[in-house]
Amino acid sequence: SLFLDRIDALNPELNAFITVDRDGALAAARAADERIAAGTAGALTGIPLAHKDVFCTEGVLTTCGSKMLSNFVSPYDAHVVSLLKAAGVVSLGKANMDEFAMGSSNESSYYGAVKNPWNTARVPGGSSGGSAAAVAARLAPIATGTDTGGSVRQPAAFCGITGIKPTYGLVSRYGMIAYASSLDQGGAFGASAEDCALLLSAMTGFDERDSTSLERPTEDYAAALAAPASAKPLEGLRIGLPREFFAEGMADDVRAAVEAALDQYRALGATTVEVSLPNAKLAIPAYYVIAPAECSSNLSRFDGVRYGHRAADYGDLADMYSRSRAEGFGAEVKRRILVGTYVLSHGYYDAYYLQAQRLRRLIAQDFQAALQQCDVIAGPTTPTTAWALGQMADDPVQMYLSDIYTIAVNLAGLPGLSHPAGFGTDGLPVGLQLIGDYFAEARLLNAAHRFQ
Ligand code: GLN
Repeated sequence: SLFLDRIDALNPELNAFITVDRDGALAAARAADERIAAGTAGALTGIPLAHKDVFCTEGVLTTCGSKMLSNFVSPYDAHVVSLLKAAGVVSLGKANMDEFAMGSSNESSYYGAVKNPWNTARVPGGSSGGSAAAVAARLAPIATGTDTGGSVRQPAAFCGITGIKPTYGLVSRYGMIAYASSLDQGGAFGASAEDCALLLSAMTGFDERDSTSLERPTEDYAAALAAPASAKPLEGLRIGLPREFFAEGMADDVRAAVEAALDQYRALGATTVEVSLPNAKLAIPAYYVIAPAECSSNLSRFDGVRYGHRAADYGDLADMYSRSRAEGFGAEVKRRILVGTYVLSHGYYDAYYLQAQRLRRLIAQDFQAALQQCDVIAGPTTPTTAWALGQMADDPVQMYLSDIYTIAVNLAGLPGLSHPAGFGTDGLPVGLQLIGDYFAEARLLNAAHRFQ
């Protein structure tokens, strides 16, 4: 109940949780105590956690940060939720998020903005802003999140914690409310790489209910961190620095923190080499065609009939659909449904959607070429530290551009991690991003662990 007490004390200000499941948490904690007494506990048995409210939780409100689902009590658990329950993890409740995971500041939530625990006038990042703020403020030691274009790595950077988005397909999307299915991937937040490793190991695994789930043995990422201590534990690690990430666009204080972190990596034995991702600058335009296209299809199920909010007054069936959706969705979600519907329309499909898919292929090929020359790629997670609440409220395009370093990784399906790398001149955390080849999660976690 230490964490429940902290939530009671601090959540009214931070707004990191949408739902606190006090009774469920206490019951799960008692069950965990019994397992510990019976000697059947695992590494995570009894460890409290916050689930991003994008994950369906049986019997517990699952809103996805939207008015549309403000009355939705899920009848089943997401695969991630059932795996963690089986591990004995104690869910404290559901973390706030941008509506349907669309956003980079957690301000699009129907339940209000989350505040950054380092400075409550700043955003925590998004869309998994509640999860990141909860871990940063010690309202929960670990948390789940999802990352479609940076939503684990960016809030981890803004809140000064570690977050990992694994290779696409390692974490089942069953019961994870879909935004852009070809990009969405569950991920883990923790105060350290080791905590992320423990959580990620418990979240991954083949699931036949997700057609893109990968059938491969699960790895014990935490055990892989237990290498013998040495003065240069990262000897032989080649870190690639993409020319395009260091060229321009990064704030001076972020650059200084990233350079200092790279010096520390060199001191640990790593070497750095310049690499190039020539098409990375096209990642944002490609993403803002592909992600809205997929979201316009995925969100068509919210029609006031099968799920969620239904308008109180309506005429015929079509009127009921349109009024329910007009009332249930917020502005950013509507903007993306409109863009997605447009780019998929007859006559525009070839010019936008197919072109974006071609860019996606080129971006993935760039990463493969760069990863021939290095073991991991490093750079900033974000161009700036956390901005002020409200600062980008009227400027969605400016907010989209802030994901410049994270989005390409999702388009390629690669794993990415953000770990703390010092502070900006405003005293707010800076994140360093590590990107690896498919299934290089253990390598990323090990590098971050040695750094920490
Ligand atoms: N900020 C990006 C978007 O708004 C990414 C969000 C995410 O990863 N879910 O789409």
